Amino acid sequence: MDIIPEQQPYIQEINADWYEGKVTEVSMLRLDAVHHQVSGNKWYKLKYNVEYCRSHGIGTILTFGGAYSNHLAATAAMANISGLKSIGVIKGTYAEKELTPTLRFCRDNGMELVFVTHEDYARKYDEDWLRYLSARFNYPMIIPEGGANEYGRKGAREIAELIPERFTHVAVSVGTGTTLTGIVDNVGGDVRVLGFAPMKGGKYLQNEISKYVPAMNFTIYDDWHFGGFGKHTAELVVFMNQFYLENNIPLDMVYTAKMMYGLQTRILAGGYEKASKILCLHTGGLQGNVSIKDKLIY
Ligand SMILES: *Cc1c(COP(=O)(O)O)cnc(C)c1O
Repeated sequence: MDIIPEQQPYIQEINADWYEGKVTEVSMLRLDAVHHQVSGNKWYKLKYNVEYCRSHGIGTILTFGGAYSNHLAATAAMANISGLKSIGVIKGTYAEKELTPTLRFCRDNGMELVFVTHEDYARKYDEDWLRYLSARFNYPMIIPEGGANEYGRKGAREIAELIPERFTHVAVSVGTGTTLTGIVDNVGGDVRVLGFAPMKGGKYLQNEISKYVPAMNFTIYDDWHFGGFGKHTAELVVFMNQFYLENNIPLDMVYTAKMMYGLQTRILAGGYEKASKILCLHTGGLQGNVSIKDKLIY
């Protein structure tokens, strides 16, 4: 069985009122359209992991995440669709009543939730601990936090094939940098890739990602974290509602809203040449908006 997208990603032009005279085009690649549960970049990052499981007769995926993780939710849904078992190693312990909507979604998709202390979770790259988990859960495919492995990068490379040649810049939100890495690796050499980190101190990703692709082909910005990863301000919420009114595009609070806010700020400050054509990636993640649902008009 192939894992078929529900809808092909498409490009939507952003309402030009605010960028007219500054740059030539700002558009958005709607990767969020690809699947209502495995949305955006997660679809691409997980695809070859699932394929690996199938071709190697592995029936279970084990991965890691926090209680609000888009990656966990996407993995649970993707495994469910693909007929695989899934195990989520969760940072922190949650009683039944305290399960976040994300964790509940994971469990509803058949994911076995394994709660570990923050100390244990910090060992997520520790070979001894991974060997222990592997044996305990009967040798599953272990996918690192955020889907950050070679199969994730391979899937992300395919996103670059959806980018038409006219674009001079690509803007993408950055968590582990797996998506950005795949894109930089496969997009034309003159395209500048702009990575917006949604957490404090995200600039370190410039070095991390440079292990895989040339540093001169991309730039990481970390000025628009709005208080830190998963945090938001009233100003960001106003921006999200405004963006929805103007474009009919829902942004997610954790990643894409911060990217668009940062990009808009840079464009308005004259950060790009007039001839620039910028493609922003909508990497999905809308499940993360439940926590601010009452503040959003969508
Ligand atoms: C997971 C996620 C990202 C980060 O992707 P990486 O490949 O880890 O950099 C960006 N945007 C959204 C909406 C996400 O859910």
